[in-house]
Amino acid sequence: MTIRPNSIEARDTAFHLHGYTNPAAHLEIGPLVIERGDGVHVFDNQGNKYIEAMAGLWSAALGFSETRLVDAATKQMKALPYYHSFAHRGHTPAAELADTLVNMAPGNMSKAFFTNSGSEAIDTAIKLIWYRSNALGKPEKKKILVRNRAYHGVTVAAAALTGLPANHASFDQIVPTLRLTCPHYWREGLDGETEEQFTNRLAEELENMIVAEGPETIAAFFGEPVLGAGGVVTPPKGYWAAVQKILKKYDILLVADEVICGFGRTGQMFGCNTYDITPDMMTLSKQLSSSYMPSSALLMNERVFEPLMNEANKIGTLGHGYTGSGHPVACAVANETIRIIREDNLVEHAAAMGEHLRAGLNNLSDHPLVGEVRGVGLIAAVELVTNKETKTALEKPGKLGLQTNALAIENGFFSRPMMDAMAFCPPLIIQTHEIDDLLGRFEKTLDQSLAQLQ
Ligand code: PLP
Repeated sequence: MTIRPNSIEARDTAFHLHGYTNPAAHLEIGPLVIERGDGVHVFDNQGNKYIEAMAGLWSAALGFSETRLVDAATKQMKALPYYHSFAHRGHTPAAELADTLVNMAPGNMSKAFFTNSGSEAIDTAIKLIWYRSNALGKPEKKKILVRNRAYHGVTVAAAALTGLPANHASFDQIVPTLRLTCPHYWREGLDGETEEQFTNRLAEELENMIVAEGPETIAAFFGEPVLGAGGVVTPPKGYWAAVQKILKKYDILLVADEVICGFGRTGQMFGCNTYDITPDMMTLSKQLSSSYMPSSALLMNERVFEPLMNEANKIGTLGHGYTGSGHPVACAVANETIRIIREDNLVEHAAAMGEHLRAGLNNLSDHPLVGEVRGVGLIAAVELVTNKETKTALEKPGKLGLQTNALAIENGFFSRPMMDAMAFCPPLIIQTHEIDDLLGRFEKTLDQSLAQLQ
């Protein structure tokens, strides 16, 4: 693309450092400027229309033009555009949201703490877990169990929990993490190993690691019910039951990172419902407010809250909190998002649309580039390979994903390459005919990508 002087493209290229973008390439390529949205579609400033098959970043549950959210934000802006929650200050939207979240979540939650991003929620979880260990007189209980290919965010502590190479390369790490095998049967299962045997092997790995490190040194296990950015990895049969049994045995807290899974994505309200997980803490964001406002929350049960309360009482205050914690406009938008998800039965709708999407993707299983189709509810991925036997793509991992993604954009839809897997996570409001449109464009994209290899 030629970048015109003083155009928005030129100004962006000159002044804007983008996350998850190669800065040198950006100087050459410039931005793809998105100007407006309508339902599951977004439009660029050249008038091109795209199906947003990622709901932005797994996040715009209600699509890109829900006027009820705009109205909720406007009304709250006019009444009280900002207030904080320090020093006993409260307001209606935050109290309402805390009540709603604590009561709708699985696992007997007790309190909600508000943050502004998934990473902040994860950071807060780590801090409060360490605080709790200190409160319990167990200052050595600090290590965190995480999985390879997990995604828990990018702040200093959260990035340490994330298990993807680009989040660690050349960045320093400060959190003591213990890293486990990614529960991806297709990729990590051994020759001849059944799914149940794979689960058992991972459970053994977990238990062996706990015993080797010393259970008294391990504070918590963080896990996404379905790993999202690491490749949409659904757990093997029996995985969460086996993990929970071991964590219970060794008195290790379980934090369910529901930042992607929460609010209907997996076909039930939470990923914890889908996989029968009873967490001690849950992190929520993204679909919480349909991402119309930055918003996130950390829920905790009494097992976490009580020692924390006692410790803070001794000290005189809980020395943690953000200027934007429980932002009234963000909370008002989140409250309205949850009302819409409930009133419009969007969880059931997502389950039905997800079946349609995954059936369509499964129909492409025989395509020479399709190695695995995976997913649950309305979240899916297609792993691209050039050799189905060896489950490999091109010599440079990720190249086939990037090539296919570039074609997808030309073909009018946004997926997301996760190395060589293409992700699908459309707004929950997507309809059957829009999924069919997406599937047609994806099939064409696969054919073109194959042709490029020949
Ligand atoms: N946790 C999970 C499961 C996520 O998918 C993400 C973001 O994609 C995060 C945490 C971090 O959220 P944020 O980007 O809002 O910091």
